[in-house]
Amino acid sequence: MSRLAQRDKLIEKLRREHLKLDTKVSLLEGQKFLTAAEVAEVKRLKKLKLEEQGGLCPICSMKLPESYNVLDRLQAVDGYTPENTRLICNECDKKVQRERRYA
Ligand SMILES: [Zn+2]
Repeated sequence: MSRLAQRDKLIEKLRREHLKLDTKVSLLEGQKFLTAAEVAEVKRLKKLKLEEQGGLCPICSMKLPESYNVLDRLQAVDGYTPENTRLICNECDKKVQRERRYA
Protein backbone atom coordinates (compact mmCIF):
# COMPACT_ATOMS: atom_id res chain seq x y z
CA MET A 1 0.00 0.00 0.00
CA SER A 2 1.32 3.44 -0.86
CA ARG A 3 2.02 5.99 1.82
CA LEU A 4 -0.85 8.10 0.56
CA ALA A 5 -3.28 5.19 0.71
CA GLN A 6 -2.09 4.40 4.23
CA ARG A 7 -2.62 7.99 5.23
CA ASP A 8 -6.15 8.01 3.80
CA LYS A 9 -6.94 4.82 5.63
CA LEU A 10 -5.72 6.33 8.88
CA ILE A 11 -7.80 9.47 8.36
CA GLU A 12 -10.90 7.37 7.80
CA LYS A 13 -10.19 5.35 10.93
CA LEU A 14 -9.72 8.51 12.99
CA ARG A 15 -13.00 9.86 11.65
CA ARG A 16 -14.89 6.75 12.65
CA GLU A 17 -13.37 6.97 16.13
CA HIS A 18 -14.17 10.64 16.28
CA LEU A 19 -17.84 10.02 15.50
CA LYS A 20 -18.04 8.10 18.75
CA LEU A 21 -16.78 11.06 20.71
CA ASP A 22 -19.02 13.84 21.78
CA THR A 23 -16.63 16.73 21.37
CA LYS A 24 -17.52 20.05 19.94
CA VAL A 25 -14.12 21.04 18.72
CA SER A 26 -12.18 18.61 16.62
CA LEU A 27 -8.96 18.69 14.70
CA LEU A 28 -10.69 16.69 12.02
CA GLU A 29 -13.04 19.55 11.37
CA GLY A 30 -10.11 21.63 10.26
CA GLN A 31 -8.63 21.24 6.83
CA LYS A 32 -5.49 19.50 7.94
CA PHE A 33 -6.75 15.96 7.71
CA LEU A 34 -8.19 15.37 4.29
CA THR A 35 -7.95 12.29 2.15
CA ALA A 36 -6.25 12.68 -1.21
CA ALA A 37 -9.64 12.58 -2.96
CA GLU A 38 -10.93 15.35 -0.68
CA VAL A 39 -7.89 17.53 -1.31
CA ALA A 40 -8.60 17.31 -5.04
CA GLU A 41 -12.30 18.05 -4.48
CA VAL A 42 -11.54 21.07 -2.27
CA LYS A 43 -9.27 22.43 -4.97
CA ARG A 44 -11.99 21.99 -7.60
CA LEU A 45 -14.68 23.53 -5.39
CA LYS A 46 -12.53 26.54 -4.54
CA LYS A 47 -12.23 27.36 -8.22
CA LEU A 48 -15.93 26.76 -8.80
CA LYS A 49 -16.98 28.93 -5.84
CA LEU A 50 -14.67 31.74 -6.83
CA GLU A 51 -16.43 31.91 -10.19
CA GLU A 52 -19.92 31.43 -8.74
CA GLN A 53 -19.40 34.20 -6.18
CA GLY A 54 -17.98 36.58 -8.74
CA GLY A 55 -14.65 36.61 -6.91
CA LEU A 56 -16.16 38.10 -3.74
CA CYS A 57 -16.28 36.98 -0.14
CA PRO A 58 -20.00 36.37 0.67
CA ILE A 59 -19.54 37.68 4.22
CA CYS A 60 -17.63 40.96 3.90
CA SER A 61 -18.16 41.46 0.13
CA MET A 62 -14.46 42.16 -0.38
CA LYS A 63 -12.63 40.86 -3.42
CA LEU A 64 -11.08 37.50 -2.58
CA PRO A 65 -7.29 37.31 -2.95
CA GLU A 66 -5.58 34.73 -5.16
CA SER A 67 -4.69 32.50 -2.23
CA TYR A 68 -5.37 31.93 1.47
CA ASN A 69 -9.09 31.70 0.86
CA VAL A 70 -11.00 29.17 2.89
CA LEU A 71 -13.58 26.72 1.65
CA ASP A 72 -16.06 26.93 4.49
CA ARG A 73 -18.49 24.12 5.18
CA LEU A 74 -21.85 25.32 6.43
CA GLN A 75 -22.33 22.02 8.27
CA ALA A 76 -19.00 20.34 8.95
CA VAL A 77 -20.47 16.84 8.96
CA ASP A 78 -21.98 17.30 5.51
CA GLY A 79 -18.52 17.51 3.98
CA TYR A 80 -17.26 19.21 0.88
CA THR A 81 -20.12 19.48 -1.57
CA PRO A 82 -21.11 22.46 -3.75
CA GLU A 83 -24.30 22.95 -1.69
CA ASN A 84 -22.53 22.84 1.65
CA THR A 85 -19.61 25.13 0.94
CA ARG A 86 -18.72 28.73 0.26
CA LEU A 87 -15.40 30.41 -0.33
CA ILE A 88 -14.59 33.03 2.27
CA CYS A 89 -11.58 35.21 3.02
CA ASN A 90 -9.10 34.35 5.72
CA GLU A 91 -10.27 37.15 8.02
CA CYS A 92 -13.91 36.12 7.84
CA ASP A 93 -12.91 32.50 8.39
CA LYS A 94 -11.23 33.44 11.68
CA LYS A 95 -14.39 35.23 12.82
CA VAL A 96 -16.64 32.36 11.73
CA GLN A 97 -14.45 29.81 13.52
CA ARG A 98 -14.49 31.90 16.70
CA GLU A 99 -18.27 32.28 16.60
CA ARG A 100 -18.77 28.56 16.02
CA ARG A 101 -16.58 27.71 18.96
CA TYR A 102 -18.75 29.74 21.30
CA ALA A 103 -22.06 28.84 19.71
ZN1 LIG B 1 -14.53 38.17 4.03
